[in-house]
Amino acid sequence: MTAGLDRLGVRRIPVPVPFPEAGGPANVYLIEEEDGGVALFDAGIGTKEGRDAIHAGFAAAGLSLGDIRRIFISHGHLDHYGYARAAQEASGAPVFVHLRDHDKVTGRDRTKGRLDLYAAWLTRLGAPLHLLDHVRLHWQDTHRMARPLEQVEPLEAGTLLRFKRFSAEVLHLPGHTPGLVCLWAAQERVLFSDDHLLERVSPNPLLDLESHPEPVHKALVEYVRSAKRVRELPVELVAPGHAEPFSGHVELIDRLLGFYDLRQQKLLALLEAQGPRTPAELTPQIFPRAREHQLYLTLSEVMGNLEVLEQEGRVVRSEHQGLLRFQLP
Ligand SMILES: [Zn+2]
Ligand SMILES: [Zn+2]
Repeated sequence: MTAGLDRLGVRRIPVPVPFPEAGGPANVYLIEEEDGGVALFDAGIGTKEGRDAIHAGFAAAGLSLGDIRRIFISHGHLDHYGYARAAQEASGAPVFVHLRDHDKVTGRDRTKGRLDLYAAWLTRLGAPLHLLDHVRLHWQDTHRMARPLEQVEPLEAGTLLRFKRFSAEVLHLPGHTPGLVCLWAAQERVLFSDDHLLERVSPNPLLDLESHPEPVHKALVEYVRSAKRVRELPVELVAPGHAEPFSGHVELIDRLLGFYDLRQQKLLALLEAQGPRTPAELTPQIFPRAREHQLYLTLSEVMGNLEVLEQEGRVVRSEHQGLLRFQLP
């Protein structure tokens, strides 16, 4: 156990994930419950390697999946809920997820209708239509590595979760996904940050339509707001969703905000020099070395930064012949 988590009755199981950009193995946290069982914060990934790591972690703790009492999922990404269905079937434990990520964990977001919404939106951003293949591919991965859940309970912001050795508040911190939550053990000053705060990688606020024709969830606008909220908390230890626990959240957040600020300066300079541009025209200029399969990620980040600038009144959008362009006001 990590010393800081030990006193909380928390054991971390690192679970290998097949994506290098995730920032290390995904963490499943086993938290002692009052009756001798455990709660899970995140449930790893449903690959064979994922299952093996989770089973080995339980065995090392002298536990079995039948000892799970409650399953809390931080957000609807496959490396965080992928093994939840199996854990639920083995234990009968309820699974809690914030309402805004329910469609991801139940698979209801992966329909033909949703794909059509993405096609229409990506076209308006000026993106090539084959970008949709990446969305499709990602959905197939999701199906392979994460069985959809059928029975999910809502996890509400502000709820105080009581465990055997500590209590934690559910913080809704949208950004990385619309329904992302962190757990905040205020007395012990430990933040279970999942993918909201990672030591080595930026949290990729991805373009996410939910069920709307245009994003209601402005990923980076919301991420920055959430990060500023966490910056004010007196956190001593961050227990992240990937890799080892760490401290120094203020410096990390400041570095990250500075990094986005630079991106925004660069976008402003491009728009000043070139006039109105679509997000897809700007993306290769911001990420000249990005590979083809990273296009969804890089386009998301450019759009995110444009939305931040737009919210601050530093750029405006216009739409002409079905193409969305941004320019200086
Ligand atoms: Zn994630
Ligand atoms: Zn993750």
